[in-house]
Amino acid sequence: MTDNMKKVVKFGGSSLADAGQFAKVKEIIMADSARRFVVPSAPGKRFSGDTKVTDLLLNSQAASSKGEDWESIFSIAEDRYRGIIADLGLSVSLEDEFAVIRENLKKGCTKDYAASRGEYLNGILLADYLGYEFIDAASVVFFDKDGNFDAAKTNRVMGHVLESCENAVIPGFFGSGVNGEVITFSRGGSDITGAIVARAVCADVYENWTDVSGFLMADPRIVENPKPINIITYRELRELAYMGASVLHEDAIFPVKMAGIPINIKNTNDPSASGTRIVATTEQYQNEYIITGIAGKKGFSLINIEKDMMNSELGFGMNVLKVLCDMGISFEHLPSGIDTMSVVVAESAVKGKERDILSRISALVSPDNIDIEKGIALIAVVGRGMIRTQGTACRVFDSLAREGVNIRMIDQGSSELNIIIGVEEKDFDAAIRTIYNEFVS
Ligand code: ADP
Ligand code: ASP
Ligand code: MG
Repeated sequence: MTDNMKKVVKFGGSSLADAGQFAKVKEIIMADSARRFVVPSAPGKRFSGDTKVTDLLLNSQAASSKGEDWESIFSIAEDRYRGIIADLGLSVSLEDEFAVIRENLKKGCTKDYAASRGEYLNGILLADYLGYEFIDAASVVFFDKDGNFDAAKTNRVMGHVLESCENAVIPGFFGSGVNGEVITFSRGGSDITGAIVARAVCADVYENWTDVSGFLMADPRIVENPKPINIITYRELRELAYMGASVLHEDAIFPVKMAGIPINIKNTNDPSASGTRIVATTEQYQNEYIITGIAGKKGFSLINIEKDMMNSELGFGMNVLKVLCDMGISFEHLPSGIDTMSVVVAESAVKGKERDILSRISALVSPDNIDIEKGIALIAVVGRGMIRTQGTACRVFDSLAREGVNIRMIDQGSSELNIIIGVEEKDFDAAIRTIYNEFVS
């Protein structure tokens, strides 16, 4: 390894779930002196049915805010750390930290503060175990007065702090707001911190260590033994991550993409597996399959609107979207025909507002028919190779038709990087398996 090479390594919750996993992580870090900056998550599940420390902390906060017994939940989280300290034979103690957190939980701390302590405590532990410096994320990751991530300030301050650091552990998932209060990213947000650190130190690569050997062509909980993706572009990955391929938080792409830093997804439990490389362009690499991957999410609704000659009515679509905009509802997709249009929205965004939406749209555009269809799942078929290959969409639809899956909506992104299909939620798994088998195998 070249002496001045810099790698930022992020380890997810399952990679740090217990002492055995901590030992694997140390071995990985020590095997390469370029692995100088480490971003840990909170301890995750050790087995199926186990509870992540982040959830224990959120549950403690929720119980405390309702005046219920929070201490018994919090003590389970404390014991997770105590167990790791004992099993690794560390001399560090977290007891003073626990006391501070207990005090804050009792006083009524925010959800963000409670959730963030999982990474914070794990960072202190991991830094001690590695002999690395611990840097509190609250002192190097910043949010603005509206609670949005402040990239410029963070990059400036973090870059400056880490410049004088040979090795450091920076906990993932949180930072601080303008009044010093703790603010977290959304769930899975340690991936974002890793990307931010990679950008701040101008890393050569951002390694994201998890519990699978890279990004797979489909969710392994749905397709048995899906093939790994060797190389993928940032854009393809963002499409897949956004649509539920939860391996990497979708917002973790921006900081590294901006700086042109490749991401490498690796498996803590199988470090020699090559994993997935995420890069800006793949011109030099040929993909084995036409599609790169498939991902999907449940929980959408379709607002279906029909009106003869709709396409010649100036401002029709704009008026429909205006209603949603006025009601604070954002939309996901907007497939349309000559006399029909559908607006795909998250079910959670329209819950309880259905009648209001229907009456407001009806009043504004007088449709012939309008209804809201719930229980829709969206599936994204993503691939940079689709643009050059005719008939990909056809193969998707034919295979689904043969399987008896009813397609409720189709939308092909203008980039031709993806095809989005809406199906009924009951058909979700079958549709993903069918598309996978059509293109892979
Ligand atoms: P970490 O705790 O390391 O951040 P996550 O649980 O957030 O890990 O992400 C890894 C998990 O993502 C895998 O264990 C797998 O179940 C799930 N997953 C969903 N879609 C995919 C996919 N396309 N490829 C790989 N894993 C996937
Ligand atoms: N621990 C946080 C969560 O469970 C963040 C993360 O794991 O990335 O969402
Ligand atoms: Mg994750």
